[in-house]
Amino acid sequence: MALTLKNLIGGRWQEAASGKTLASINPANGEVIGTVPSSGKVDVDKAVEAAREAYKKWRLTPAPKRGEILFRAAGLLLKHKEELGRLVTSEMGKVLPEGLGDAQEAIDMAFYMAGEGRRLSGETVPSELPAKDCKSVRVPIGVFALITPWNFPTAIPAWKMLPAIISGNTVVFKPSSYTPLSAGRLVELINEAGLPDGVVNLVHGTGDETGEYLSTHPGIDGVSFTGSTAVGLKLARVCGGLDKEISCEMGGKNPIIVMDDARLDLAIEGALWGGFGTSGQRCTAASRVIVHKKVYGEFKERFVRMAKALKVGDGTDPSTHMGPVINDAQMKKVLDYIEVGKKEGARLATGGRRLTDGSLAKGFFIEPTIFEATPEMRIAREEIFGPVVALIKAEGLEDAINIANNVDYGLSSSIYTQDVNNTAIAERDLEAGLVYINAPTIGAEIQLPFGGTKKSGLGRKEAGGRGGSLDMFTKWKVIYRDFSGRLQKAQIDKD
Ligand code: NAD
Repeated sequence: MALTLKNLIGGRWQEAASGKTLASINPANGEVIGTVPSSGKVDVDKAVEAAREAYKKWRLTPAPKRGEILFRAAGLLLKHKEELGRLVTSEMGKVLPEGLGDAQEAIDMAFYMAGEGRRLSGETVPSELPAKDCKSVRVPIGVFALITPWNFPTAIPAWKMLPAIISGNTVVFKPSSYTPLSAGRLVELINEAGLPDGVVNLVHGTGDETGEYLSTHPGIDGVSFTGSTAVGLKLARVCGGLDKEISCEMGGKNPIIVMDDARLDLAIEGALWGGFGTSGQRCTAASRVIVHKKVYGEFKERFVRMAKALKVGDGTDPSTHMGPVINDAQMKKVLDYIEVGKKEGARLATGGRRLTDGSLAKGFFIEPTIFEATPEMRIAREEIFGPVVALIKAEGLEDAINIANNVDYGLSSSIYTQDVNNTAIAERDLEAGLVYINAPTIGAEIQLPFGGTKKSGLGRKEAGGRGGSLDMFTKWKVIYRDFSGRLQKAQIDKD
């Protein structure tokens, strides 16, 4: 049965003022699985106002109390993990274990950020003057616009929403219009944990209408965006001009380097998972595999053989290895890139076609595709965001690292080798926010910062650890308290 979800504004679930709706479609069979409001300016205005109002009290709510609500939210998410994971799979297409993993990431983040409610620590340092103390504290920034993509429909929203609210901010969240149901259900569960009205507001809608109006709204203090580089850079320019805080996590063209001493079984398994997991629709997908010339032939033969054996189909079927791509437009984009690859002279080693056998014809399925490419080709430089891997031959470690670095992106990277010196050089020289050793480019854990360099990331990073998203959602305030009862002058008084 199709679901009907609404916007959440000031604690009240409601339709868009215009009454317009958007449909959510299952990419495995083209069926409409639900509808959500298509919000306009009036809805966004109301949501921002509700968030501004709620901010007055929420910022003063003790952080451990905020944490208690997040603990309850974590419990509710855990209880509904199966339901959420299935919703993610039916709306986004990833196979069920990955759908459940998406929900698990949201659960992990809820527990982790709930704990931050009792940390959020600053510094206390001695003063150079007597009877004076000095400390720094984290303070919230205000009202955040959260804009998220469709490829992690519950995980990425949780990565933003939970650190934002534990820090004392309130939010207006606009999820991708392709996966609104998963995001909506996530918000329902978090809200059910007992959030005061207006702390989390949800407005569904399209990017150019709802998203852009929200991000540039005068009542918004900061924007946390995850999505394509084109939209991220555009928003960063606009928001910069409006003096808003903005952080953008964007695209990638992530390389796996396979050295001649690598364990090829591990490297091939990693390249399959990195390249074709989530149908290649991860910002950290291993869309380039750069292989040492001495093992290139063997690697290619075994990698292609295993890619051919992947079963493509509906993600709810337990025998499926790879699901569909998100929608018709993305399918066309990927197929166009495959044509670009052929025209550029890349050798198609396997795949390259849309799959239309039987029930697959109703969905958006593409074969796992491997091209033998050279580094300057567009398919080896541009983000395709689909199940297409460019296999590239390298002369040695230095050449492999140069190839890896010679793109506009710098999100994730990986090297397979048994040589500790190779790992140290790769760790030092790969220009990326994440480096994996003997593991593929995907699989970040939430307790460390996440984000890229170059055109993959701008501003503060996401997730946990030092330099993680608490830095995105708080500002440092420094407090000096003089209890000497006289005027003391730093740098001037001698005793
Ligand atoms: P997208 O840029 O098209 O959309 C992302 C979000 O921005 C959506 O909610 C969309 O509605 C909204 N949006 C679109 N235009 C807007 C505008 N003008 N103003 C405000 N909001 C706007 O990206 P997508 O197709 O949803 O997601 C895929 C992209 O996301 C890929 O490039 C992928 O690499 C990237 N991504 C990056 C990360 C990361 O952490 N670096 C994680 C996941 C996905």
